[in-house]
Amino acid sequence: MSLKVNIDGKLFDKEDAKISVFDHGLLYGDGVFEGIRSYAGKAFKLQEHINRLWESAKAICLDIPISKAEMAQAIEETLKVNGIEEGYVRVIVTRGCGTLGLDPNRCSNPRVIVITDYISLYPDELYENGLEIITVAAQRNHPAALSPRIKSLNYLNNILAKIEGLKAGCIEALMLNHKGEVAECTGDNIFLVKAGKLLTPPNDAGILEGITRQVVIELAEEAKIEVREIPLTRHDVYVSDECFLTGTAAEVIPVVRVDSRKIGDGIPGQITRELIEKFHKLTRS
Ligand code: PMP
Repeated sequence: MSLKVNIDGKLFDKEDAKISVFDHGLLYGDGVFEGIRSYAGKAFKLQEHINRLWESAKAICLDIPISKAEMAQAIEETLKVNGIEEGYVRVIVTRGCGTLGLDPNRCSNPRVIVITDYISLYPDELYENGLEIITVAAQRNHPAALSPRIKSLNYLNNILAKIEGLKAGCIEALMLNHKGEVAECTGDNIFLVKAGKLLTPPNDAGILEGITRQVVIELAEEAKIEVREIPLTRHDVYVSDECFLTGTAAEVIPVVRVDSRKIGDGIPGQITRELIEKFHKLTRS
């Protein structure tokens, strides 16, 4: 059976789920999105994702044509219809069809799309042995130009960084901000462990305010691990004891090499492993 895609409240077979070539989501990347995990058929941190979607939309003056409650319902129903337990939800709101000019006021109704799918995970081996990443030359978008806090349909900044990473044989890549500070990876937030404390760049470093990042901060605080949201440099990364990334798809994944330098002992650290275990307990019990 083909997976169903929800467009504006109607279900379509995957092959028939189509959007116009005049939609400004396609023409200009004018729109917003969210990526959400489902565990045992339930969307994880659904309200937080919906709130972030609404904030992204507000930042680009896009009125989402349904209520937050209707959005939650659409997501839950689409998961159910497709019988997806351990899965991934992609919610997209486009500006809608317009002219070939930029003017968003000349666009018709925004389109609301909910795609649910099975999740493709990083191989287990990477969770056990850790990832190797590099710092790329592509700088994270300057917040004054396009705030990384907006999860917009234009991900070229991240894609350019991803291309650089992939060319160097790394599936994730570290991006610095316009001040040369550590910002985030192409689709994940970054954490360091130094002297038993958790360090992560603050929101004003020009990052997406990751929902997994927030969950991990809360898990660490519950475990009485001090968390500091402070500006970090590549030097801090190189001399850290442990490093890991967080994201909806990746969850919590250890990093053992950055720019060919060994982090700590070159194996996933103890605090990282503890947080992975706590995250599993939270999402799988
Ligand atoms: N940063 C960027 C640029 C991302 O695209 C993502 C994934 N949505 C993240 C961080 C992690 O955020 P979250 O934990 O909410 O998935």
